[in-house]
Amino acid sequence: MIATGGTIASKETDEGLVPALSSEELLSCVPEIAAACRVDTVQPFNLDSTNIYAGHWLEIARIIEERYEAYDGFVVTHGTDTMAYTAAALSYLVQDSRKPIVLTGSQRSAYSRDTDARRNLADAFLFCADDGAYGVRVVFNGSVMLGTRAKKTRTRSFNAFSSIDFPDVAVMREGVPFYYLEGHKPTAPPRFYHALNGNVFVLKIIPGMRADVFDYLDARCDGLVIESFGTGGLPDYADGALPGRLAHFLSLGKTAALTTQVEREGSALDKYAVGRRLRACGNILEARCMTLEATVTKLMWILSFAKGEEAEKLFYTPVEHDIF
Ligand code: ASP
Repeated sequence: MIATGGTIASKETDEGLVPALSSEELLSCVPEIAAACRVDTVQPFNLDSTNIYAGHWLEIARIIEERYEAYDGFVVTHGTDTMAYTAAALSYLVQDSRKPIVLTGSQRSAYSRDTDARRNLADAFLFCADDGAYGVRVVFNGSVMLGTRAKKTRTRSFNAFSSIDFPDVAVMREGVPFYYLEGHKPTAPPRFYHALNGNVFVLKIIPGMRADVFDYLDARCDGLVIESFGTGGLPDYADGALPGRLAHFLSLGKTAALTTQVEREGSALDKYAVGRRLRACGNILEARCMTLEATVTKLMWILSFAKGEEAEKLFYTPVEHDIF
């Protein structure tokens, strides 16, 4: 078990909830899992996941790599706020894992009387200990989701996560997984990656967006995710400034991917003229039905070692059903 903080490990303080429980204290909430697995724990940090980013994802992946042969599976306890980013990032950093890497957390502290922590933690371990489990998964409120498809869609309810545009892998019933998707457990050794390019920026388009935002983007970022409206497009208003600046951005050898602000069903850039004309700006990638979390972390992974056509090829190569 790799404990990283989050509400699940939090205590109430005068300043609000703060992660404070040790990994052993967390584990002591679920004595029943002893019948299914033997658990060792590490706690590389104890953070509200608001403060977790690429360096922490690499550290979690390194901990897994160092211990990969010694354990049958890994449970990562994590705050819910950025769990979907960490799950997607781990899906790219540890590919083709025949062993399960299961993220979980909770909406209420393990300390609170009406907590969802005990159920989620027990489910995560019981799923992890199951013979059919492999790859990076999120276990929450009885659902098992692909790490590339999970998204936090509720801020307070126990069913905080949804699998976007893809079915759940399994449902946990009284600690037993019932699989909707069995897939093929990899047999070859997993591939570990050790770098991410943090210079990826998300530009959420709002009506009236000014093109001079590209003054900043041209100077600072290698990869840009444009979250536009509906099936996708960029406003050109009277002057065509935004598409013009996008064309300039791409001419600098940088990478841009278009996605949509709409949670489900993805982009379709060629449907409307406001989208199709972006093809003339250069080689813009299209995220289609990838989640924002997967799009961002996939670009961070790809841009740590590839550019241009190679980056494009990798972007469209599915990893754990992230794109189709
Ligand atoms: N702010 C918390 C975190 O992400 C929320 C949670 O865990 O539910 O660490």
